[in-house]
Amino acid sequence: MRALLFIPILFITACGSSSEPGDAPPVVWPLSKSTTMDTLNDGYGPRELSGGYDFHRGLDMPAPTGTPIYAPLGGTVVRVEEALPGDSLERLGKFVIIAHDPHNGVDVHQMSFQHMNSFSVTLNQRVEKGQQIGTVGNSGVGINTEHLHMGYFIGNNDGLIKRLNSRNALRLLPYTHIDYGVSLTKSGSDLVLVLSQNPKSLDAVRIRLVPNDQTEVVLDFETREGMDVTDDDINPYGNILITPAPFDQNDTIFQNTITFQTLYAATTSAEIFITDAKGTVHPYTFSDL
Ligand SMILES: [Zn+2]
Repeated sequence: MRALLFIPILFITACGSSSEPGDAPPVVWPLSKSTTMDTLNDGYGPRELSGGYDFHRGLDMPAPTGTPIYAPLGGTVVRVEEALPGDSLERLGKFVIIAHDPHNGVDVHQMSFQHMNSFSVTLNQRVEKGQQIGTVGNSGVGINTEHLHMGYFIGNNDGLIKRLNSRNALRLLPYTHIDYGVSLTKSGSDLVLVLSQNPKSLDAVRIRLVPNDQTEVVLDFETREGMDVTDDDINPYGNILITPAPFDQNDTIFQNTITFQTLYAATTSAEIFITDAKGTVHPYTFSDL
């Protein structure tokens, strides 16, 4: 990575807001069975994994084997399965998928609960919000740590894992948005965006860069606009390089550095718009780049 120019960094924050849009009673977190966010050691989207870049299609919650997992929302169990080594889903291990009831205008959606140790539901069973569905484990090929991986999918509820339907589960789960720390600096012909949250809430899903002299650029971790849709682990892609900082449950700051490369030697100002998982757009303006 090339050295950054040392330019004064402008931090701007937007108003915080707590967040459960609509009128429906809030869903609950799968480990606490409450509206208090479970401990996360990975959010949805770009993450550092084993020293490299990885696109994470879910939320990870560390917990000891045997910890109960509860349904965040009512629904029907559409899949209960143990994926064995050699299976295309071997990394999921023992998993459950629940087709959830409609919620706040979303009619077709489902959640997956992966790396489980045991099941307490059966196929086609109706489950209510807060009902235990099984326990945490570390099942799945290559899964070394005890944690629950929860995937969220909009657009299908048939139990299939459709990669491009995966969305940030914070769309559905209650949490408090934490103001972003945002800096934008110029390094040669690159624009370098550093996006952080302290404490972590990991809820940025869409970033829009509007430079004064170039076409706007969108990077969307859900629709994969600005990413390689055939393989969201490809990085860099186009002229965008994503560099996630290492993160685990002991870290308080979650940070991604996003480098918009090569086109910006003459850029003097830019706006950044960051959309959070509840759909709120947070604007930032940078001049004198
Ligand atoms: Zn995971």
